Amino acid sequence: MTQLIDQFGRSIDYVRLSVTDRCDLRCSYCMPKQFRDFHEPEDWLSFDEIERVIATFTRLGTRRVRMTGGEPLVRKNLTQLAARLSALPQLEDLSLSTNATRMAQHAQELKDAGISRINASLDSLDPIKFKQLTGGKLEKVLEGLMAAKQAGFKPIKINMVLMKNINDNEVENMVDFCIEHGFTLRFIETMPVGDMGRKASENYIDLQLIKTRLAKRFDLIPGVMPGGGPARYLKVADTDINIGFITPMSQHFCATCNRVRLSVDGTIYTCLGQEHHFELRPLLRAGISDHELEQTIRTAINLKPEKHEFNENPEKVLRFMSYTGG
Ligand code: SAM
Ligand code: SF4
Repeated sequence: MTQLIDQFGRSIDYVRLSVTDRCDLRCSYCMPKQFRDFHEPEDWLSFDEIERVIATFTRLGTRRVRMTGGEPLVRKNLTQLAARLSALPQLEDLSLSTNATRMAQHAQELKDAGISRINASLDSLDPIKFKQLTGGKLEKVLEGLMAAKQAGFKPIKINMVLMKNINDNEVENMVDFCIEHGFTLRFIETMPVGDMGRKASENYIDLQLIKTRLAKRFDLIPGVMPGGGPARYLKVADTDINIGFITPMSQHFCATCNRVRLSVDGTIYTCLGQEHHFELRPLLRAGISDHELEQTIRTAINLKPEKHEFNENPEKVLRFMSYTGG
């Protein structure tokens, strides 16, 4: 089988596909409140271009794609794109990261289009705090999550970015909420990506502390979840619930990194924590052949650095998470 192997011997079989850099929320660690400096529509890869690039990745061994952003549901007709990608014969897993604000309207059609599982951001269950943290309405997100549950996505993973003295008092409540609804819960350490990520990192909290705290209230046993990501899981005994810990700061997982990111303007970013990138859009629009596109993707993969430098060099990444595709 064809495989993309980078210069450090890692097999790259997973693409995070950002379908837009726009978003209807402004999470405090991600995007500034007044931010409007988005890519113009003429710079967005069209659905034809996206399908062509992802099909090329699948010929080179990619088996999993996650659609993300920005908020992917802000991109019009996302369901059509999902149906086109899930029809690619070699793609085994198409998933979606969303803030769930628009999930109530789209859950069933996205499921029918071939998205099997979703990750949804939820940093607080307190409507006032949620509003302060994101600018949005908690109620809409909860409606979206219930619609996703109804539509049958499995699993539904809740992503909670933890910040000291902001939402770390809610971890037990969030576990209870996930037990009640059958959701997987993942805690994420704040990363110094862009100005907002760096500012939020002032409230960084090491997830080892949270693990110890949760073990006092819940019986936690080793767990596993499918998905190919970096989370390490513990299962809450006597439930079906897994709790994942994503620790890019306290215990990085670069040695097993299996992914690259494709941004909405057609740039391949080979690492969330570095600037190495390769612009595909000019080549696509200049009429590059399929063979040349394959060679170009191989060249881009060779740019993948060994590891991020969030701890040694936190000033390094200027892009917001929503720009690269989280
Ligand atoms: N809008 C969608 C959402 O919120 O799930 C998808 C894009 S968002 C950029 C993807 C993930 O990145 C979310 O789980 C979000 O919490 C996370 N994220 C954004 N900025 C972050 C940061 N500075 N540190 C850690 N996680 C971050
Ligand atoms: Fe939007 Fe997701 Fe960034 Fe929040 S984390 S501002 S929902 S892109």
